[in-house]
Amino acid sequence: MSRRLPRVAFNLRLRLLTSYLLMLTVTLGVIALALFVLIGNRAAPPEPTFARLAALTQGLNYIDFVADIPVDRDSPFLQERVHELLEVFARTRNVRAMQIRVTADGTRVVYDSSGTYSAGDALQLQRDSYKNRQLAKVLSRGSEQIFGRFRDPGGGEWLYCGVMFGRPGHLDRHAHDDLWLLAEPSPKVSLQETLAVFGNALAPPLLQAGVVGILFALLLAALISRTIAQPLQRLAGAATDVAGGDYAVIVPVSGPAEVRTLAESFNRMTTEVLAANTAQRDFLGNVSHDLKTPLTSIQGYAQAIMDGAADQPAEAARIIFEEASRLNRMVVELTDLERLQAGKLSMKSDTLRMERLSEAVVQRLAVVAEQKDIALDASAAPTPAVIGDGDRLAQVLVNLISNALKYTPPGGAVHVATEAADDGVSVSIRDNGIGIARDDLARVFERFYQVDKARGPQRGTGLGLAIAREIVEAHGGRITVESRGRGQGAVFRVWLPRARVGAYRR
Ligand code: ADP
Repeated sequence: MSRRLPRVAFNLRLRLLTSYLLMLTVTLGVIALALFVLIGNRAAPPEPTFARLAALTQGLNYIDFVADIPVDRDSPFLQERVHELLEVFARTRNVRAMQIRVTADGTRVVYDSSGTYSAGDALQLQRDSYKNRQLAKVLSRGSEQIFGRFRDPGGGEWLYCGVMFGRPGHLDRHAHDDLWLLAEPSPKVSLQETLAVFGNALAPPLLQAGVVGILFALLLAALISRTIAQPLQRLAGAATDVAGGDYAVIVPVSGPAEVRTLAESFNRMTTEVLAANTAQRDFLGNVSHDLKTPLTSIQGYAQAIMDGAADQPAEAARIIFEEASRLNRMVVELTDLERLQAGKLSMKSDTLRMERLSEAVVQRLAVVAEQKDIALDASAAPTPAVIGDGDRLAQVLVNLISNALKYTPPGGAVHVATEAADDGVSVSIRDNGIGIARDDLARVFERFYQVDKARGPQRGTGLGLAIAREIVEAHGGRITVESRGRGQGAVFRVWLPRARVGAYRR
């Protein structure tokens, strides 16, 4: 058994480690994927397209020149030539070319090489702040360059470069207000480009960071799984010890909170099992001791009678009878106690008045007190009702008052007082007898505990107070004892909770 345990702990550690690593890998994977998607969906920067379009504008100068030939500017013939030139320009340079006229009431298309717009269509141009230095150098004075984007009716976005040529000889800044426009679809970053960017710029540092991260995580995971697995391993070992009969094991409380709680519970369990074991051993020792004394006595006297050695056979027989009675009493009380402790003894739930009960018990024991010349009296104030088993509670009072009478020398006094106290009823039995030493006070309720063990066949069984306590506690009450020491008398106090609606005990 014990040889298999380390493997169990090892498996646990391995499993913890693997789950940590799996978690880490999945997280890193998700991050990488998210990065990829985010980079891929980004629009590409427009500058390269702007620069390319700017470089292409060279040939437009010529077309502008043709358009500016001083004839009737709107002559169909001239316009047609200009459009032909634009069309060839667009086709040969693989670009969209447009002639736009800027008037007071807006921007209108004159010609579009792609055929999307017809002459006269309005066009909304958005402007970017980009400027091209190369273009500025080659353009004649008074010219203007604009860059920006516009949207087709189809929804596609286009980047454009527009030029309005200046004519040095003209008084007017512009010979006319024609804007020559070259356009290309607005570029998106392609997957390949993303991959390239990712591979070139991001992957190496990411991989390095990943390796460092994984190493660090591995170390951390090993540490964490150790802090969880090690205390569990210790617990498993300790459990094997307990199974093997060694209850005196205490495991150190360490590790995460749950494991610590487990270790604490385990320690409490072993402590309790150990205590129960010790109690059982003590109990067996006590029983055999308490049985042996009367049995030895019975055997001795019986032998004496048989041998004819007894001076007074009748006296010997009386002692035998008393010892046997005591044995009988002990068996009955032990059975009672065992059933009380196991909760097997059913208790009645009568509504009781404790002052009446204690008065009745006092009356019943008045004869005994008289015989012993002890003044026994009772005082009672009206008390709240309690719920309980009248016979069992009477048994408790009989036991306590009998004890008081037993442990008080002739001429003494025993007083029983019943009063309301602490949301319940308290019955105190006070005597001025032999009292109980401080060391014995805490132990008088233990089974078989007797302050003075050697006291002839008349002595008790040492079970009375243990039974009394069980009965009182089964009623939800408590029993206590006070004594200022030997010869100072003793006070036993029983407290019971007052009856409450709906609080009937079964
Ligand atoms: P027993 O049958 O011996 O009386 P109990 O359980 O009733 O057993 O009492 C346990 C022990 O407590 C007694 O043996 C006695 O030493 C002590 N004791 C009980 N009541 C009193 C008392 N009123 N005054 C002094 N000692 C007492």
